[in-house]
Amino acid sequence: MEKITPDDIRYSDLAEKRFNKRFTGKPEYIRLPTSTKEVVEAVQEAVNSKRRPVVRSGGHCLEGFVSDPAVQVLIDISLMTDIHYDAEQAAFAVEGGATVGEMYRRLFLGWGVVLPAGEHPGIGMGGHVLGGAFGFLCREYGLAADYLYGIELVTVDATGKAYSVIATRETTDPNRELWWAHTGGGGGNFGIVTRYWLRSPDSNGSDPYSALPKAPASITTFRVAWDWKLFDETSFSHLVRNFGAWSLQNSRPDSPYTQLFSILFLNHRNLGKLEIKGLSTGGVQLIDEHLAAIAGPIGLPYIQQIEESSWLRFALNPFPELFQPGFDNVQAKVKDAFFRQPFTDSQIATAYKYLTADVKIGGLLGMATYGGKVNTVPPDATASAQRDCIMDVACNTGWVDPEGAAASLDWVRNFYKALFPGSGGVPVPNEQTDGSMINHPDTDLADPEWNQSGVPWHTLYYKENYPRLQNVKTKWDPLNIFYHALSIQLAG
Ligand SMILES: Cc1cc2nc3c(=O)[nH]c(=O)nc-3n(C[C@H](O)[C@H](O)[C@H](O)COP(=O)(O)OP(=O)(O)OC[C@H]3O[C@@H](n4cnc5c(N)ncnc54)[C@H](O)[C@@H]3O)c2cc1C
Repeated sequence: MEKITPDDIRYSDLAEKRFNKRFTGKPEYIRLPTSTKEVVEAVQEAVNSKRRPVVRSGGHCLEGFVSDPAVQVLIDISLMTDIHYDAEQAAFAVEGGATVGEMYRRLFLGWGVVLPAGEHPGIGMGGHVLGGAFGFLCREYGLAADYLYGIELVTVDATGKAYSVIATRETTDPNRELWWAHTGGGGGNFGIVTRYWLRSPDSNGSDPYSALPKAPASITTFRVAWDWKLFDETSFSHLVRNFGAWSLQNSRPDSPYTQLFSILFLNHRNLGKLEIKGLSTGGVQLIDEHLAAIAGPIGLPYIQQIEESSWLRFALNPFPELFQPGFDNVQAKVKDAFFRQPFTDSQIATAYKYLTADVKIGGLLGMATYGGKVNTVPPDATASAQRDCIMDVACNTGWVDPEGAAASLDWVRNFYKALFPGSGGVPVPNEQTDGSMINHPDTDLADPEWNQSGVPWHTLYYKENYPRLQNVKTKWDPLNIFYHALSIQLAG
């Protein structure tokens, strides 16, 4: 396994490979292992030379955990992409370097099954599944982490020796806590996941065709777009209120609408449109009823597009306009919040104020439906603690020209803060909100300027599961080799 140093023609391509161009790193060298043994060697070498290693799989980290100038050794596992049915573990084995899109493709073409996971096909499985991983099918099937049967992890013991270990969810497995920590603990905390094993919690996995949910036979996507200019504060409030009310009424696991997922895109008025996009695996009737409850009562004209698609065609290129050229050149900031109850009138007024503010930025408030099957799992059964939410909401901004940074960051930070005036500017776990998602990390939550709640960042992400995660960290990465700005701290 070669060391790729800055004089190697591959270095700049590899060093540049990341979604969020807001961050840059300059590792002394990069390793591209092709096996677990090589990952162990790469980690051992870094530890022996006292250099700080970090792992990258798909490069879609929203914060600078990988692209960090303090990182000296980048271990990129994107060549480790094997996906197969493993009869010995009775589960699908997926290497950490495979992308979500490749996972969808191989599982569908091989066995007609699906793992409910994230929306963008370029995300790496390595950094995704262990952060919970929600997506288009989560209301029907749950989180990807709910299907995690086991992991293979490379980590470092108290003597500085790198090694690999397997942990499964079997109650008899002495390493079960390590498995548990990977069902929502987040990336870059305990070591390098080289392989996931995946199968449904209620399957013994002996038949691969039923070891995961059957993929939808077909799906129906929908898009609705209004001209922003048609809206005033009253109609805007009406729209947001309708979306919140629908989400509250239809997020129970027994709702007839769990086969429908949608996102309300409250774009800044600069962007010209307000939109809803979503999909149904239960036919067009669910969409009609959804839109009749949300869009119809507004009484403003809108453009509606409904399309049938195969699951795979959609999963490999979902809503292409969202991920269009230029998308991969963007600097971005995402600030996430879980909601148990709809927006209050004063939160809607705040949203209207920021989305119509006279600023030259590109930004939006995205509101995604949540719940359904996700909410069937107890908060401590996995490390993904938020299990009774109705929406996941995010204030987002992106810019290409570095000069846009200050205004965009200022807008998105103040917008988010203003949504939670009664809880120090963050969505503390309370009757209405329930913290934030670790797959959408936001270092502001650890910054007293932006989190004035007195509730620590780790409670926002992990709630009561944090001490247990710390125990896992202390046992399996006692030298704290794997860390970043929001990593789990050693106990004590
Ligand atoms: C465009 C876009 C769309 C997204 N959509 C969704 C979505 O629909 N649902 C959702 O849940 N999330 C979504 N995310 C968030 C995404 O799941 C996380 O950013 C995830 O961590 C990305 O994983 P990665 O391997 O691509 O990233 P990387 O940048 O490679 O890694 C992210 C973090 O995980 C660590 N890590 C990477 N590989 C491993 C490994 N093998 N073992 C241990 N730690 C590892 C890294 O060190 C880093 O801390 C999206 C992000 C983007 C940019």
